[in-house]
Amino acid sequence: MPAKIIDGKKVAEKFLNEVNKKIKESKEKPGLAIVLAGNNPASEIYVNFKEKKAKEVGLYFERYNLEENVSQNELLKLIDNLNQSRKIHGMIVQLPLPKHIDEKLVVDAILPHKDADGFTPVNLGNLVNDDNRLVPATARACLELIKSTGEKIEGKNTVVVGRSTIVGKPVALLLLQENATVTICHSKTKNLAEFTKNADILVVAVGKPKLIKKDMVKKGAIVIDVGINKTPSGIIGDVDFENVKEVAGYITPVPGGVGPMTIAMLLDNTLNAMEMGRGFLR
Ligand code: NAD
Repeated sequence: MPAKIIDGKKVAEKFLNEVNKKIKESKEKPGLAIVLAGNNPASEIYVNFKEKKAKEVGLYFERYNLEENVSQNELLKLIDNLNQSRKIHGMIVQLPLPKHIDEKLVVDAILPHKDADGFTPVNLGNLVNDDNRLVPATARACLELIKSTGEKIEGKNTVVVGRSTIVGKPVALLLLQENATVTICHSKTKNLAEFTKNADILVVAVGKPKLIKKDMVKKGAIVIDVGINKTPSGIIGDVDFENVKEVAGYITPVPGGVGPMTIAMLLDNTLNAMEMGRGFLR
């Protein structure tokens, strides 16, 4: 029997409705700012999506488009202003930044309680400590999509392919919190298929089109494809969807899987940021 398709748009809609409801009930209007530096076409598309959804759910929204040659100091000054703004509760600095800018330094300049992406060292450290107030949105998206299947996570063999700080590592930590047995594979892993074939739950965040083939997937597995790869025939994931869906139990499509869910989690994070910011001077 072919896999059930996990409809990321549908699951995201449920969360977006919740966010919308919480905003309506909130005394203070939550505000999100997005900073985009440079002319990366993919980043522009992502930011446009985020802006559209942020406005749809009723967040107060500010967008800053900076030139490719913006200086690091100008960018840091803007972050400082947003850190102090009373209207802004969460901010996103869209990555990657232009090459002359030190990304770590810039992310570190965001106040942890305004870090809607959950990328600052404080929030990543909180996650390691099982404190999930601001968790990277794509990692949250993966977990919620797995949960949406209704299948048990505890005790399951789970393999995460990819070890980036913004996706692979936080997904692995979230799955560990759910008591899964977690293996992380990466570019230096020998015999990747030996690991993936044993996975009841497989999360792939690499950025290599169709890296995961049908014979690398266990029958009935839950397969979450984070990859976004531009090809002449359109955007595809890291999983060979058409063939893997013949063996998997559940699978996310690309597009329409992790992507829309990531945006929903990001907007939800803005509400969490507002909550986290209470008691702090803004
Ligand atoms: P990254 O480049 O930072 O990390 C890629 C990881 O893949 C590395 O840890 C590397 O060790 C591993 N890797 C590389 N080649 C491998 C191989 N042959 N076998 C096993 N592992 C290998 O990328 P990232 O930021 O984690 O993003 C991964 C993918 O997810 C990209 O396609 C990106 O566009 C996509 N992405 C999607 C969303 C979304 O919202 N859907 C969000 C973030 C990233």
